[in-house]
Amino acid sequence: MRPIGELSAKDASRIRYVLFDIDDTITTEGKLTADAYQSIWDLSDAGLKVVPITGRPAGWCDLIARQWPVDGVVGENGALAYWEEKGVLKRFYHPNAVKNTHPILSKIKDRVLSEVPEARVAQDQFARLFDLAIDFAEEEPKLSLNVAERIKEICIEEGAIAKVSSIHVNTWMGVYSKLEMSGHFLAVRFGYDDPATVIFFGDSPNDEPMFAYFPLSVGVASIADYRHLIDHLPAFITKKSGGAGFHEGVDRLLSLR
Ligand SMILES: [Mg+2]
Repeated sequence: MRPIGELSAKDASRIRYVLFDIDDTITTEGKLTADAYQSIWDLSDAGLKVVPITGRPAGWCDLIARQWPVDGVVGENGALAYWEEKGVLKRFYHPNAVKNTHPILSKIKDRVLSEVPEARVAQDQFARLFDLAIDFAEEEPKLSLNVAERIKEICIEEGAIAKVSSIHVNTWMGVYSKLEMSGHFLAVRFGYDDPATVIFFGDSPNDEPMFAYFPLSVGVASIADYRHLIDHLPAFITKKSGGAGFHEGVDRLLSLR
């Protein structure tokens, strides 16, 4: 990982799309900071296509697509994309997405709640369509990454897909990913066809496929805490964590354009 200050003007000039994770990438201790939100406006005002890529629920994506200065949002780890077009909210669901009423997910929920002390269903579960989210670090008590990995193992043993974010373990039944849905959405909506035109910001292991695929990827400083869990680290790292790190990276990018 190189310091974000080494991002070159040549690389920056190619960028048309700015993708970013939400939790602990543009938030700090759970809050969307003023400077990170300003950075989203700055990117949008600069004419870049701006798309958050998140594990957060469909219900949140409705709000984000309508009210944030973005060109769309990919939610539930790639199950869906929402965007506004001529004042109308549009929705696309991955053809492999399976509703979260699937019996395997309810079995996983029962096992996790009985086998992992203090794990709990995430409070935003009611707003989800396709996944089950187990909270290990959004609320108190904050549990360790080892506990999150144990939860993930239970999900996989039961035949589901599972990803660990900085706050939740998300588990679902269909085969899709943040990366696949991001590429699909950008291609269909904007004619995207070149990974070198994308910069991606993330903070944790569930962002790894994005770090691996996009040559211009940026981890906010806290990515260093997960070094032992990540094979494909981002190309660049910021000095600061969370919203301040995102703001730092966007400043560098916009100063080069
Ligand atoms: Mg995150």
